[in-house]
Amino acid sequence: MKIIIFTSNMIKSLPEITNSLGSEDERHLASPFMESADDHFRMLASIVEHSSDAIISKDLRGIIKSWNAGACQVFGYTEEEAVGRSITMLIPPDRQEEEQMILNRIYRGEAVKHFETIRVKKDGTLLPISLTISPVKNSKGGIIGASKIARDISDKVQLQQQLQEYAEKLKESNAHKDEFISIASHELKTPLSSIKAYLQLMERELKEEQHQQYVNRMLHHVEKVTRLVSELLDISRIQSGKLEFNFSEFDFAEFLSEGIDSVRQTSQTHQILVEGPLPELTLYADRHRLEQVLINLISNAIKYSPDADKVIVRAKKEAAQLLVSVQDFGIGIPDTEWKNVFSRFYRVAGLPAHIQGLGMGLYISNEIINGHRGKMWVESELGKGSTFYFSLPLP
Ligand code: ATP
Ligand code: MG
Repeated sequence: MKIIIFTSNMIKSLPEITNSLGSEDERHLASPFMESADDHFRMLASIVEHSSDAIISKDLRGIIKSWNAGACQVFGYTEEEAVGRSITMLIPPDRQEEEQMILNRIYRGEAVKHFETIRVKKDGTLLPISLTISPVKNSKGGIIGASKIARDISDKVQLQQQLQEYAEKLKESNAHKDEFISIASHELKTPLSSIKAYLQLMERELKEEQHQQYVNRMLHHVEKVTRLVSELLDISRIQSGKLEFNFSEFDFAEFLSEGIDSVRQTSQTHQILVEGPLPELTLYADRHRLEQVLINLISNAIKYSPDADKVIVRAKKEAAQLLVSVQDFGIGIPDTEWKNVFSRFYRVAGLPAHIQGLGMGLYISNEIINGHRGKMWVESELGKGSTFYFSLPLP
């Protein structure tokens, strides 16, 4: 419902308009200009009269001068009840100062656009509306009044409230989900450690090679589940802002070789090459967490290049930064997805079914690098391969 309020000097009643045009004959004999003015006013009066929008006129003191059928419908007052009363009867007690504020702006010649406010109906119910008020000037430029257009925005407000409720519910259920992930991961951690310890004992005690191999495979799977659980725990730590870092000083080259060695042991398909001389420097960082990043990147490089046989790691000092990159020759990532891959639980659509994952590795890695005031990004070409980079500020 649209409500339009005109000032009294803009709209004259139909008899007033007709009278101003003189006698019947005079009007009949009037020039085409007079006839078109008559038509024009008749049209205006008809719009006012038959509009389902509330159209109200008031003088500059705020006294209601006319009140159409739409206004009756919207505000609940009849024309007799409204005309002659102050427009402030439509303004709730706690918003009375609005009329003065609006008038002040009109006096200054300023318009008020899409002012969202509340008006009160005869039965006391509140009605959210959007007001647009513009000053009306006479031919000499003097302000003689204001035109007001008010739009009923109850539907919009209701929709906003609903959206807010949904957002709150979503936030709540997200918090429950995060809490569940956190508790479940904690509960899984202890039995997994026991299974791993007993399997290691068994592996040592068993005499038959084949039995040892079985246990070895079991250990491998337990390792995978353990990593998954600890990544889930990391995610819930990030969500609750509790991902902590233990900073210490260590040699970068030694750290890199150790990290690479630990992945080499698990990959029979790819060679992990270090290209170029490694910069000699001491890092002040969380060694365990940085190793997690390096392993994540190399594991991804292997996982997403099933037809390739090598991964190249590079590192160099650039200005006051350490720049590390991991390059693969695999499936690649479309450029529209370069940013998305660092989002939580995000996986690029259309991955081959046999390449599994939960979309956690890069999200955690990126958070770890952010925690070191560094940056992480990717450059890639579909079908040719990807290079993941991270940079760390050096002292
Ligand atoms: P998780 O690491 O939790 O086991 P994941 O490998 O799917 O699972 P991320 O490591 O976070 O999750 O990677 C997110 C997504 O980015 C992947 O699902 C994949 O679509 C894409 N991606 C990551 N690394 C590469 C890569 N080297 N080449 C091509 N795509 C990659
Ligand atoms: Mg991964």
